[in-house]
Amino acid sequence: MLKKIKDVTAEPQKRLFGLLPEEIKTLMGDLGQKSYRGVQLTQALYNQRIIGLEEITVFPAALREDLANAGYTVGLPEIVQAARSVDGTERYLMRMSDGETVETVWMPDGDGGERGDGSEASLEEEALDGLEGNISEFGQAAGKRDLRNVGALEQKGYRRATICISSQVGCAVNCQFCLTAKLGIKRNLTAGEIAGQVVAVLNRHGIKIGKDRINLVFMGMGEPFLNYDEFIRSVELLVRHIGIPESRMTVSTSGIEPAIRAFAQEPLRPKLALSLNASNDLVREQVMPITRKWNIAQLLDAVQTIPLGKREWVTFEYVLLGGVNDQPEHAREVLDLLKGMRAKVNLIVWNPGPGIAYTQPKPEDVAIFQKMLIDAGMPAYIRRPRGRDIYAACGQLKRTVDLPEAAALVEIAPAASRRG
Ligand code: SF4
Repeated sequence: MLKKIKDVTAEPQKRLFGLLPEEIKTLMGDLGQKSYRGVQLTQALYNQRIIGLEEITVFPAALREDLANAGYTVGLPEIVQAARSVDGTERYLMRMSDGETVETVWMPDGDGGERGDGSEASLEEEALDGLEGNISEFGQAAGKRDLRNVGALEQKGYRRATICISSQVGCAVNCQFCLTAKLGIKRNLTAGEIAGQVVAVLNRHGIKIGKDRINLVFMGMGEPFLNYDEFIRSVELLVRHIGIPESRMTVSTSGIEPAIRAFAQEPLRPKLALSLNASNDLVREQVMPITRKWNIAQLLDAVQTIPLGKREWVTFEYVLLGGVNDQPEHAREVLDLLKGMRAKVNLIVWNPGPGIAYTQPKPEDVAIFQKMLIDAGMPAYIRRPRGRDIYAACGQLKRTVDLPEAAALVEIAPAASRRG
């Protein structure tokens, strides 16, 4: 039986999760330890995905206690509430060590948002296009296979999963269709808190990196490009140390022009999705007031500085709002804007939220809009809405505690088998 070490709330500099290997090495050196102890601690944090110091069994007990007595903790965000949708999506309330909370969403089988962007996830999605509706058959087939060597997802009949993570507590951008905007901004998350949401969810589901296919979208609460340095550092942690390739990640921005230009220069770069949401500046200013700072032309110019890989497309997200931006003239304007670009459009049927005065678009308007884009040669996909009933869908993250009756609040499971 491992001795439980009291988990005191750590000062930010005392949280171990989020430190890079060279920082961990320095820390261990400062504690009078040899450098291999730094390697062991790095492995414990990012490969074993420990949640408490007592799990570092390669350390002598005295060293674990020294760390604890000096105030160090692992410092992973903690899932304090989980709601499960009828479609299997789960929305988590994650508590940081200072008590602030954000939301993170788990979508088994994803939402199809990657289709057509050239990523690994997109190629898988396209391969599955002919199999839509056969997910339960896949599950039954999985039940007949030898499951000893497959990941946790396949054992449950899923091919893959997408985790949607938050980058800030609240958001300052004030998109008029989004519930998160109602919270205002409280603070940035650190890189450890951003990557830590992923690890908390991986642990909950016993995910094995390398066996399970996990995609990440930085599309939860907050604008990642207004927390740029910590976002980029979280990508480094996730790619280099936790083992999720950047080709399985997409970051969505409302359009922070200087950050898009900086992003174009990054050596580790997830796919980019720009939240366009309007076909001209006039409509976009109403829907996304940030357009007054950087207009559509400036954003498209910045997006075109991104060096695209051979099979890479830039994604433009377009939330369809009934009667606002969903008419044929808007589709024509979108085509004009994106002419000549290696782009694809993700259409998102607006998800309603309390206190937001938009209406959902009519299904026939959505169909016409998509058809006009496709007929003109622009790939256009409709995102599968996930977790609407538990306020987990796009634009619905607001730390909602009151849930409709049908939505289940589910037990917080102890960490399952975590070895990656
Ligand atoms: S859509 Fe994104 S950027 Fe806009 S307010 Fe919501 S969280 Fe912020």
